[in-house]
Amino acid sequence: MTSAELSGWGRIEPTMAQVYEPAEPGQVTSLLPTAGGRGVIARGLGRSYNNAAQNDGGMVIVTTRMNRITDFDRAAGLLTCEAGASLEQLMTAALPSGWFVPVSPGTRQVTVGGAIAADVHGKNHHVAGSFAGHVRWFDLLRADGSQTRVTAQADPVTFWATAGGMGLTGIILRAAIQLSKVQTSRVRVDTVRAADIDQAMAYLSDTDDRYRYTVAWTDCLATGASLGRSVITSGDFASLSDLAPKDRRDPLAFRPTAWLGAPPGFPSGLVNKYTVAVANEAWYRKAPRRREGEIQTIGAFFHPLDGVRNWNRVYGPAGFRQYQYVVPFAHQEVVRKSLERISKARAPSFVTVLKRFGPGDEGYLSFPVPGWTLALDFPARTPGLAGLLRYLDELVVEAGGRVYLAKDSRVSADMLAHMYPRLEEFRKIRAELDPAGILGSDLSRRLGI
Ligand SMILES: Cc1cc2nc3c(=O)[nH]c(=O)nc-3n(C[C@H](O)[C@H](O)[C@H](O)COP(=O)(O)OP(=O)(O)OC[C@H]3O[C@@H](n4cnc5c(N)ncnc54)[C@H](O)[C@@H]3O)c2cc1C
Repeated sequence: MTSAELSGWGRIEPTMAQVYEPAEPGQVTSLLPTAGGRGVIARGLGRSYNNAAQNDGGMVIVTTRMNRITDFDRAAGLLTCEAGASLEQLMTAALPSGWFVPVSPGTRQVTVGGAIAADVHGKNHHVAGSFAGHVRWFDLLRADGSQTRVTAQADPVTFWATAGGMGLTGIILRAAIQLSKVQTSRVRVDTVRAADIDQAMAYLSDTDDRYRYTVAWTDCLATGASLGRSVITSGDFASLSDLAPKDRRDPLAFRPTAWLGAPPGFPSGLVNKYTVAVANEAWYRKAPRRREGEIQTIGAFFHPLDGVRNWNRVYGPAGFRQYQYVVPFAHQEVVRKSLERISKARAPSFVTVLKRFGPGDEGYLSFPVPGWTLALDFPARTPGLAGLLRYLDELVVEAGGRVYLAKDSRVSADMLAHMYPRLEEFRKIRAELDPAGILGSDLSRRLGI
């Protein structure tokens, strides 16, 4: 055990906790009864953006040493692992046999436990749904120390409260994941430039059913006729015949470790409205108007940010706030309104991503519902940011949308109730699973969940 300061990936609200890093699931069972009044929360690789995996003055159980892959049925693509195994580990283990994770967020540095607890989504949400839909079972350690193997069939309530439940129903110890079959480890990518937000949204709407993976990068600072100009990349795993002859010799190659490190001492203010405007212009200009069939690696297509270790440091010590919402398709005007307001405020979101979600799953607090999702990240010291995000909250709530808890840093408990209509049901289930309120995080205390 160590006493340590923890923050999320955005580095904005660090708090102190007693941090334990058990090497075996069995050790977690013996730790639980020792949690004091401030309770306990699980933590994976700390890639949620704010304080979902923090517990000020309490216990935090980091799962990353519990990361063994315990079984892999290469014929069926069913992989069983401890909850601290990362998606990168799953890829490394499974790609040589032609299997890939069913859903990958924009980083592969997340644990299986974190992927279930946030019910993460990826570029294929419109066809594959989110992560929990591919989980056959997980072993859950409940607050009373009992352990159960949970499936969506036998215990849908516990399963769907845990999927998206941000660690508040118990500690996931192990899970079995159904992987997806691939012929190669490369992606065949089409790139299109859209001159404004209307073109970008029309293109995404028209082409979703043609692509397994698709997403738009949007220039949040562009104004006027260029408002919301975007670069859209869409694709699917390449077949063997798509590869150049030299790549066909090792079609499932995956070499994830070639990382650069961001130097530690970036000052706050390096990411600002000027540098982001220049970067956006360069990115947009560099993209082809239209290019088809480019072969990219998994890293380049799915996880470009993983290419620089600790890229979150470029925002400097003040950190940054992520904000991601989804609004139903019927309220697509919210996207345009958001971009109008953001560009007018010159609020520099460095990574702005737009996508269409498909049907949501049964998760009581799972984020995705059918509609448009926009993800933004702003330096925490952006002038006027609090007012801008409040304005976005209101637009989102009026449209019947919601923000993503894995990224949230500031929504109020009142707002949350409007965003997640099944919140009360979740609270009741949580009270049954954990009557003494042993599980808790900085996020759950702020939101009263
Ligand atoms: C660069 C980047 C890109 C991202 N892109 C996406 C994206 O495209 N889509 C998306 O959905 N998300 C995305 N995310 C967010 C990320 O996928 C989620 O926050 C994920 O939960 C992080 O997993 P983790 O292992 O780091 O968990 P942590 O951040 O450590 O914890 C997240 C939550 O999971 C809970 N948890 C962790 N382990 C367990 C366990 N064993 N049992 C019970 N609860 C547990 C924690 O209590 C906490 O509530 C991105 C994050 C980054 C940094």
